[in-house]
Amino acid sequence: MEQTEGTSNVQVFCRFRPFNEKEMNLPSRKFIDISPDAKTVTVQPYLEVTDKVKYNFDYVFDPSASQSMVYERAAKHIVESVMQGFNGTIFTYGQTSSGKTFTMSGVDLDDPELMGIIPRMVSTVFSIIENSDEHSEFTVRVSYCEIYMEKIRDLMMNTKENLKIRENKARGVYIEGLTEICTSSGQEIFEILKIGNFNRSTEFTRMNKESSRSHSLFSITVTQSNSMDFSTKVGKLHLIDLAGSEKVGKTGAEGTRLEEAKKINTSLTALGIVITALSEKKSYVPFRDSKLTRILENSLGGNSKTSLIITCSPSQFNEEETISTLRFGIRAK
Ligand code: ADP
Ligand code: MG
Repeated sequence: MEQTEGTSNVQVFCRFRPFNEKEMNLPSRKFIDISPDAKTVTVQPYLEVTDKVKYNFDYVFDPSASQSMVYERAAKHIVESVMQGFNGTIFTYGQTSSGKTFTMSGVDLDDPELMGIIPRMVSTVFSIIENSDEHSEFTVRVSYCEIYMEKIRDLMMNTKENLKIRENKARGVYIEGLTEICTSSGQEIFEILKIGNFNRSTEFTRMNKESSRSHSLFSITVTQSNSMDFSTKVGKLHLIDLAGSEKVGKTGAEGTRLEEAKKINTSLTALGIVITALSEKKSYVPFRDSKLTRILENSLGGNSKTSLIITCSPSQFNEEETISTLRFGIRAK
């Protein structure tokens, strides 16, 4: 995508999924409107006495937007810049069942139309490698972990070990002991994704039946060595499917559930503050306020490119959460 004047390295996209069956059967009036230039969402609040509110984004995808369109606009340029040695981060943010995982991973890795950002990223990476000149040599490493209640878990290992974040001059900020797998094909990455998703779901069936309470972090590091000028470029891309942003525990939450709710809110709030500070080019960015923002310290800001994709339900039934998601999105711009 071309960079227009005034564009910061943080871009915010909004995607509305189609109505689901449950929403289709509920009485609902039209409460959102997307402008013809696809930059503005107008919300007509429930009590029509209040004024309409407008939310501006870099681009708004309506329910008919394809997976490929979302990838082309919101992700591909970041993947390309990672192949040039820059860092990048792509997030999906929204309430549970708003389309975060659909957007980031897609539902079916075997259906090319429905593939989300991660599998499309994989084909961009390997096609750039295949078409590079004979002096360039690439290595591709991937890792997959999740953060749940401020604990970091390696999804390549079926353990509950809580990994620690470390920092040194050579590596910057990193997760100590996290499995990094060297891969040479897209097919291998798909296998890694399947293992990670399997480890994620089994753990949660035992624990509390919901994977929507954790952030998942798929990272790919591309190193390019040039045998002509002996230069080396390293680019890192983080693809993050965030925990559901809905307010939990308003009624009856206690014990683990309440702790969980507080921690998720803390890390999403910390993320919002960090992204806002970056897009406003503030001199102090509070990366240390959560594990997630700490891990991303070297991948947000500076020359790094960031896309935040907020996902929303189109139904008035979810109005409150949708408005809170839209607000998070505009604060990041
Ligand atoms: P989340 O990860 O935010 O909890 P999901 O991505 O799992 O939500 O989406 C919830 C359901 O809606 C899934 O069945 C998914 O396939 C479907 N869905 C989400 N977004 C879209 C979309 N843009 N087009 C078609 N189906 C979608
Ligand atoms: Mg999900």
